[in-house]
Amino acid sequence: MNCPHCASQRTQERNKKTVLGYRTFRCSACHHNFNERTGTPFNFLEYPTDLVLLVILWRLRYKLSLRDLGLDVRANVVLRSRMKRCEIGKHALHHS
Ligand SMILES: [Zn+2]
Repeated sequence: MNCPHCASQRTQERNKKTVLGYRTFRCSACHHNFNERTGTPFNFLEYPTDLVLLVILWRLRYKLSLRDLGLDVRANVVLRSRMKRCEIGKHALHHS
């Protein structure tokens, strides 16, 4: 991938990943390190992209602001794991 700092194509993937599991790269032109999300609009959030997209999807679908939903991202994770448990519950009922 191109370096987000100098747009050089002389970048090398490193063995190291970020805390969130994003691949990291080193630019051999300007010697900056970056990850695959550096320079994307979502990077500053430092949350997994799929979670961010889920929140955006909810906002579009229900036309709610984050304040209307009364959640921060952490609450969102809890909610999502609850939804998953409901799915498992439904599945179990269906088969008993
Ligand atoms: Zn560079």
